[in-house]
Formats: sequence, structure tokens, C-alpha cells
Amino acid sequence: MKSVQEALELMMPAFVPLGLERLSLAEALGRHLAEDVAARSDLPQFDNSSMDGYAVRARDTDGAQKGAPRTLTLAGESRTGGPPPPRLAEGTAMRIFTGAVMPEGADAIVIQENTTAEAGRVAIHEASKPGAWLRARGGDLARGATMLARGGRVGPGEIGILAAQGISSISVYRRPRVAILSTGDELRDIHEPAPPGAIVNSNAYALAAQVREAGCDPVVLPNVKDDMGATLAALREGLTCDVLLTCGGVSVGDYDLVKDAFAKLGIEAGFWKVRIKPGKPLVFGRRGATPVVGLPGNPMSAMVTFEALVRPGLRAMLGDPRPYRMRHAVPLAGAYRHAAGRLELVRAQVALAGGKLTATPLRLQDSGSLPSWVGVDALLALAEDRTTFEAGELVPALFVRDETGSPTSPFA
Ligand code: AMP
Ligand code: MG
Repeated sequence: MKSVQEALELMMPAFVPLGLERLSLAEALGRHLAEDVAARSDLPQFDNSSMDGYAVRARDTDGAQKGAPRTLTLAGESRTGGPPPPRLAEGTAMRIFTGAVMPEGADAIVIQENTTAEAGRVAIHEASKPGAWLRARGGDLARGATMLARGGRVGPGEIGILAAQGISSISVYRRPRVAILSTGDELRDIHEPAPPGAIVNSNAYALAAQVREAGCDPVVLPNVKDDMGATLAALREGLTCDVLLTCGGVSVGDYDLVKDAFAKLGIEAGFWKVRIKPGKPLVFGRRGATPVVGLPGNPMSAMVTFEALVRPGLRAMLGDPRPYRMRHAVPLAGAYRHAAGRLELVRAQVALAGGKLTATPLRLQDSGSLPSWVGVDALLALAEDRTTFEAGELVPALFVRDETGSPTSPFA
């Protein structure tokens, strides 16, 4: 039986980026760049003022101070968005506004607050220095420099700088289509009638949401009975996607056919069973370039194993150079006991208590207990070689919510 880390090491090489597509900036949020992007032009593109005030030659303001201003002749204005102004002559000052082009000859801005306008003249009440309040051409970014590196996530800031450069579309990694096939005689869909002994195929919904949250496109296939023919036909269809996930039917029961079905289709078996709780039975294989993962059917087993072993692969396929959840050490709110032998991923809520984060395991931790993923913030990774964890002990927490919000304002 593999440890979780061993399983990951075997699985991750199967999850590789698929190829590129060009997307408009409006579509690219959350994707990862498939190539470096170089600056097309200097940023800023021209010397400009960062304040409203007067463009001057700093030398002409030497000695100016409150009560003893130096008075310069007003030489027109440079308006934001206006044409490049004429050259600034010695002994003169030009009215200028934030973002407006600096006149040649000027080397500083005196902010409006340190001046008084007179008819055709302006009194300067502070000595300026070259470069003051000036945003120099290329000061943020030089033309040709790499401004975004391959693999980087396209977020609002990246989109802003691309737009500023006049770049309206970018090359990103394609989004994998992930087939989800649920197996089990007992399954019905939400809208189907409920004969005795049947349950709703909730995994299809939960897993599709996890796939979407991971940034990929779920393709939910109609669920199949525990029947070899039907299972094979559905698996064949699933193999037309970029990744195939199944759930259920991978354990040791008489009707657990998925492993055999994989073998019949030439899905090369990587391993079966991982030392993880919940979720021990899990089959990994691949057919050609397509990774195939048979997840266990118990709802928490399916979700936890997806989170631990599938999500990193999907993130890697999206070109994310940081495909794993970040791990933080968080103190346990109370003592926790478990059986040794498997890494347990405990569903927990994490909250600030007395100025520090504290992790509280949700009440139910059974592999079939759906309430134990409701309101979950983190999975606590409790080591397989230990049985007892004390209150206050720091344990590794993997935050599974992208946004960990707070009920109170951070500025209060
Ligand atoms: P299995 O892995 O097929 O042995 O199923 C283990 C448990 O998970 C059984 O109680 C199943 O009824 C339940 N289960 C299997 N598949 C699903 C599913 N798609 N949605 C909800 N529960 C499921
Ligand atoms: Mg089953």
C-alpha cells in the first residue's frame, strides 16, 4: 500500500499541460501563461507628471522657500491627454496636470500646494530637485523586458499590465475536460424517483464542483450500474476526455468491477490502495496520455482523495507551477485520537480565537458523513505513525477554501 506522498509521486508525472490556446483578456482570468510576455513599450510611455502643479527646471527654484518665493513666468500648460507641449525655456514654469506629458527642458514638478498663481506668473515656495514628482519614461518597465513569466497566474494585476501594454489576447494553457463517472446499482439522479435502497448520486455533483473549483471543465457522464458491459461502454466514452475520474466500485466487494474494467480497456495499472483516511481503495492508471483515477464511492472518501491526489494533478495540467495547497501549522482546539497506519485528513473549521488561529475538527469524520465537508476550511493532515494529538498541538492544515474570509473588518 502506498503512502499519500508515494501515490502523488507516481501520479503527478501523468498530469501534464495539454497545449495552448489564445484567450482575450476578459476570458483569461485564473489561467496560467503558456509563454513569457515581453513589454511592447516603455512604461510609462513618456515622461509625465505624477501631480497637479508646475513643470520647472529645478535649478530655477534654487533658494525658494516659504515667505521668500521665486517667481517664474508662466509658459502655457500641458494637459493630460493633450499633445506634447513646447520646450520649457529658462526662468519659466508650465502648468501641468497628473499624467500630462513633461515638456522638454523641464526636469521637475512643483506641486500646486507649494505655489501661488499670479497674472502671467507663478510664485514657487519650495526649492525643487531634479526628478521631483516626475514619472520617467520606462521607469516602471523597459521595452523588451520580460514583464510576465510563463506559468504565472493571470490575475487582475496581470490583466491590467497587459492592457496597459495594448496586449489584448494571450497564450495560456488549455483547461482540461475531466470526465466523471459514478458507478453503483444504488445510484439515481436527483430528478429520478427513489425506490427503496436507492440514494442520490451526490458524488457526481460534489466532484463536478471540485473539478470546477480546481479550474477545469467537468463532464458528468450518466451513472452506470455495477455491470461490466455498461461500465466498459461508459469508460470508453470517458476516455475521450483529458482526464477520467470514476467513483465507487474499487473496493473488495463482489460488485466492485471498476478495477477489472480498467484492465480490460488496457488502462495501465499504477497502484491500488493508499494509506489515506478516508479513502483507502483508490486505483490509479493511465491510458496513453490520459490519467485515469478510480476514486472510492463513499462521499468523503471521494472528496478527500480528490483533494489530496487529483486536484494537484489538475492544477499541474493547467500549468500552475504551484499545484499544491499551502500547508500551515495550526493548533488543535481539542485532543484528537485516531488509529495509526493511515494519514488521516480531518475536515476542520479554522477560526481566530484569542488572536490566533485554531482548528476545530467537524463533529462527524466518517467516510460517508456528508456533513463533515459542510463549512470546511481545512484538512488537517494527522500523521499515520501517531495515535494521539493534544489540544494546542500544532498540526499541518491544508486550507481547501480559496478565500478564507473574516466576519469582521480588518480595518476595525
Ligand atoms: P463503493 O465504493 O462503491 O463500495 O461505495 C461505498 C459507499 O459509497 C456506499 O455506501 C455507496 O452507496 C456510496 N456511494 C457510492 N457511489 C456514490 C455516489 N456516486 N454518490 C453517493 N454515494 C455513493
Ligand atoms: Mg458500489
